[in-house]
Amino acid sequence: MICLLTRPPHLAILSHLPTAVRKKGAPLPMHTKLKYFAGYSSQLTGQVAQLIAEGRLAEILLKKYPAPHTIRTDKALYDFTVARKNEFLRNTPPLSKVSYDGKIEALHHALGVHYFVSRVQGAKLKAKHEIKIAPAFKVAPCEFLQMIVVHELAHLKEKEHNKAFYQLCEHMEPAYGQLEFDTRLFLTHLELFGPLYPAATPSS
Ligand SMILES: [Zn+2]
Repeated sequence: MICLLTRPPHLAILSHLPTAVRKKGAPLPMHTKLKYFAGYSSQLTGQVAQLIAEGRLAEILLKKYPAPHTIRTDKALYDFTVARKNEFLRNTPPLSKVSYDGKIEALHHALGVHYFVSRVQGAKLKAKHEIKIAPAFKVAPCEFLQMIVVHELAHLKEKEHNKAFYQLCEHMEPAYGQLEFDTRLFLTHLELFGPLYPAATPSS
């Protein structure tokens, strides 16, 4: 299951932003590509483009998310993920591995991947579940890591991005929709301006 976070636009998603960010009739900076906002309304993308044009993207994000989490290793990521799994999805199959994997962005243009591998082992069919998370989430607010982990865990029960899937995401993380939107802002910042938390980001 490859997750491009292709959720349909969520209404009132910019509720934490000041209203009327975009001046009436102000031209959209069309040179700004907003690939993480494909499928969103022109009104929402206009507000995002305006934030970027005004140089306020980092300020907005840092005000709401002042510091990154410290879950930097695959071991810590595994523990973080399994803790959530045990809380909400106790009866789902075990996870064999959870890791940060730089290849998934390049290979699938994805932020998270849930692998389901079936293998014949002796006379038995063994299923292995594995979650890979894009390294962009390594130095990121804890809330965003929570969002992508919840998303991938929900695929243990729901393979498709359907209504039941998003209901499950919201059951595990009530702010899921807002966090997914804020994550898009964060990834846009990363792409256009570099790390939001440069002091915590390895220079290599
Ligand atoms: Zn998905």
